[in-house]
Amino acid sequence: MGGGIYEDWSASAMDGAHHATQRAVKDGRLPRSGVCEACGKPCDMTRAGGSMKLHHWSHAREHWLDVLILDASCHRKIHNGSLREPRTGRVYPTVAERRAPRRPTPTDATREAV
Ligand SMILES: [Zn+2]
Repeated sequence: MGGGIYEDWSASAMDGAHHATQRAVKDGRLPRSGVCEACGKPCDMTRAGGSMKLHHWSHAREHWLDVLILDASCHRKIHNGSLREPRTGRVYPTVAERRAPRRPTPTDATREAV
């Protein structure tokens, strides 16, 4: 598999990322409405049961606020693997893949080249 995204799926990285976006929305550093990056539909957080989701394509600290704007329907599709993640183009990793994160090592590169 190519792509080169080696994600940190630890609880601390994911919690940090989610709390950071919650704070940022609260104090206005991230928007409460926008356009879904997957399907182009307008979406927002202001309605009850708001349809806008801020999706972390990376949980690395430097990307905590670098989120994708998605509507609820596309967000669900990305998480169940039926839609490619916008911007990265990847199919969202399964739970099993997240539990066993691949690290870029010379051994891996050698194996993939065979
Ligand atoms: Zn959408």
